Amino acid sequence: METADIHILGGGPAGLTTGYYAKKQSLNFLIYEAGANVGGNCRTLQLDKFLFDTGAHRFHDKDPVVTVEVKHLLGDDLLRVEAPSEIFYQDKFYRFPLIMSDLVKKLDTKTLLKIGWDKLRTSNRKQEHNFKELALNKYGKTLAERFLLNYSEKLWGYPTDKLSTAISGNRLKGLDFRNFLRSTVLGTPKSPTHLDGSFYYPKHGIGMIPDKLCEFIGNERIKYNHKVSRLIHKNGRIEKVVLNANVETQVSTVINTLPLTLSMQILEPAPPQELHAIVNTIKYRNLRLCVYCLNKDSFSPNASLYFPSDEFPFTRLYEPKNRSPYMAPEGQTVIVLEIPCFNEDTFWKMSEEALHSKVWEALNRVKLLNTDEIIHYQTYKLPFAYPVLEVGFEEKVGHLVSYFEQFENMYLTGRSSLFQYLHLHDLFKSGREVVEQIVHG
Ligand SMILES: Cc1cc2nc3c(=O)[nH]c(=O)nc-3n(C[C@H](O)[C@H](O)[C@H](O)COP(=O)(O)OP(=O)(O)OC[C@H]3O[C@@H](n4cnc5c(N)ncnc54)[C@H](O)[C@@H]3O)c2cc1C
Repeated sequence: METADIHILGGGPAGLTTGYYAKKQSLNFLIYEAGANVGGNCRTLQLDKFLFDTGAHRFHDKDPVVTVEVKHLLGDDLLRVEAPSEIFYQDKFYRFPLIMSDLVKKLDTKTLLKIGWDKLRTSNRKQEHNFKELALNKYGKTLAERFLLNYSEKLWGYPTDKLSTAISGNRLKGLDFRNFLRSTVLGTPKSPTHLDGSFYYPKHGIGMIPDKLCEFIGNERIKYNHKVSRLIHKNGRIEKVVLNANVETQVSTVINTLPLTLSMQILEPAPPQELHAIVNTIKYRNLRLCVYCLNKDSFSPNASLYFPSDEFPFTRLYEPKNRSPYMAPEGQTVIVLEIPCFNEDTFWKMSEEALHSKVWEALNRVKLLNTDEIIHYQTYKLPFAYPVLEVGFEEKVGHLVSYFEQFENMYLTGRSSLFQYLHLHDLFKSGREVVEQIVHG
């Protein structure tokens, strides 16, 4: 077995960004990835000449240092995209995130008055204990019930009063009510800013970011098809990692990006019973993706379409071509439908054909499509898509993370490992911080 000073477990964005900064520091490391590809849940897949991501991705320009890094990595291949998104509710499309001027145009006067009345009765100063309270406070009952609470319940699989405010990712900004009044009283809505529909996206899909990281790291440092099966510890240190059930490798420093629940299950000796009990109460939400490559120029002009209502099995439809024209051949398009589910749910286990008939029937309620237009249809399974952030999750996860922090040679980073709603830019930052910690102590 090759030797290394640092062993990185998992070749998703968290493992790769850590490897990227480790390489910059000339550290000696190896990445162990269970699958045949890197990128984890942030990959670009291909069917024939059609490209699409593992769910709708964009690069968020939230951390200037990281944005500079990504621009440097991708050069001209990082596009600046302008594309709106919409939400489909009761046979109408509404701009998403919600904008007052759009609602004023599309909702009837009675509903608009209710929205105004809700606003007068709500107070932003109230302490919010769960997502339901947050949504009601920011948007009022009428809007929250139509667009936010039903959608969130469908996405996360839990009632919204059981979900933490953290699921909003600090993105619930509320509505511009001054503009609302101007629109309803004076009939002159201010044009909305297009900032929410403006973002960075790589020319050939989000997977270009992991691919470029991989190129920088060097393939010789990535061990594909190396599944971590056990983590053996002794005297407060991780001593060995067992790969593919039988290959033991001695380790000095370990950077662990594997799902927190999995890490707990593969520890040897096993952690205390009370921690196991906690592990059984935290959950990840999966996504089943239904992909249709269509012999049709376009489905819609949107980057994403959202479906809050239960009558649609999917929460979001994403059309890659509206992010980059290089994602589908000319005159054709591909659409990706995201169906959130748990391991035990019917949608996770359903056959491709059964899923097709459900999804296709629902899709045709949005827009009439002809089956002759389908060039390819395929489904994909995405486990560990979202950590389910229930009310009180911080305390439970805190216990588990603290347990891992006792191992002096192990560092945790990554969305599923830290059980946080993290994005690519966060993973660049945490990868950099972990490497700095190792180098500077
Ligand atoms: C639908 C969707 C949309 C998203 N949209 C955005 C977006 O617009 N912008 C954004 O910045 N982020 C977005 N994200 C988040 C982003 O994809 C994740 O933050 C990122 O994939 C998490 O990276 P990770 O490395 O922590 O975990 P993962 O991507 O889950 O990678 C974990 C890796 O570990 C490997 N692994 C698992 N078990 C083992 C084992 N036993 N041994 C060895 N290897 C193992 C897996 O094969 C995988 O490669 C989105 C995520 C989803 C699901």
